[in-house]
Amino acid sequence: KILRVAIMGLGSYGTRVAEAMQDCKRAKLVGVISGTPSKIAMWQSKYGIPAKNCYNYENFDAIKDNPDIDAVYVITPNALHKGQTIRVAKAGKHVICEKPMAVNASDAAEMVSACDQAGVKLLIGYRMHFEANTLKAVEMREKGEFGDIKFFQGLSGFKIGDPTQWRLNPELSGGGAMMDIGIYSINGARYMVGEEPIWVTAQEVKTDPVKFKDGIDETITFQMGFPSGVVASCLSTYSMNNLDKFFLNGTQGFAEMQPSTGYGPIQGKTHKGPLNEPHVTHQTTQMDQMAAIIFDGVTPKIPVDGREGLKDMVIIDAIFEAVKTGEKVLLG
Ligand code: NAD
Repeated sequence: KILRVAIMGLGSYGTRVAEAMQDCKRAKLVGVISGTPSKIAMWQSKYGIPAKNCYNYENFDAIKDNPDIDAVYVITPNALHKGQTIRVAKAGKHVICEKPMAVNASDAAEMVSACDQAGVKLLIGYRMHFEANTLKAVEMREKGEFGDIKFFQGLSGFKIGDPTQWRLNPELSGGGAMMDIGIYSINGARYMVGEEPIWVTAQEVKTDPVKFKDGIDETITFQMGFPSGVVASCLSTYSMNNLDKFFLNGTQGFAEMQPSTGYGPIQGKTHKGPLNEPHVTHQTTQMDQMAAIIFDGVTPKIPVDGREGLKDMVIIDAIFEAVKTGEKVLLG
């Protein structure tokens, strides 16, 4: 069975997903939701999307009467995810929602309940959870090939440009680098270590308070502690390039990924040598796998459901609290 998907938000990542879906075996782009009629027309002609599968932000609730769409992929600014996800759920369609799934844990929890209540699946666009070298490293850790895990380092950042973009507007982004890119180090720490953190500490540095106004973090260093005693040390920033690296260290070996979350091939090595799994466009694999999750009840090795997304949001809330108070924040 083919997963018939409508993309909501025809921006840069929506475009990337649409292109990647052209190579999918189990997922097909069949509809769009956009506020810009000219973009809708362009996508219609490019991807052969019929007019009856085109919606705008006012009328998309009517998707409930459209039997030709199974799921909506929400790819809009972060602060809009909650309301849009809940509307899609109420329209009875499965939701795939981009990261961060929301701007705080309480909104994320509401999204999870709304989808449960509507009886639809909620999946978060965690493309790394399907990436072959990442899965290989996780499998090696599960088999004990690194020995007892002791330490994780996550570096996530890039130098952000245009000061007028929504990513630097707290009303639309819900936060700065942490929401956008720091979340990769949080999520990566969890799947690489294979445990849930029990505490966080965090420190913020802001060198440009004009560009990075209140509510927009520029650089945060943070640490997480795990039940077995593993510690993670991470960096999230909007003011440095060349930061896309994971390092996992155990008593008998290590895994190092750099780049660890970029779109291109993930370069990984361990104490045993390079990770050589073939590169497939992440979003192509993701969408095929999501079809299998939705229709065949397949359980992915690293979860991508709303509850998984919520775990990252709880940690982000705790990191912001730790920055504000200067205290260690206990989790769960
Ligand atoms: P973008 O600015 O390129 O696109 C956002 C789209 O939302 C635009 O088409 C814009 O017109 C539309 N939009 C609808 N309502 C809007 C409003 N009120 N204000 C502003 N824009 C509005 O952004 P993007 O890079 O495509 O990011 C979109 C989402 O995708 C974000 O949540 C981001 O975190 C996520 N993302 C995920 C990945 C990934 O690798 N998983 C990569 C990039 C972005």
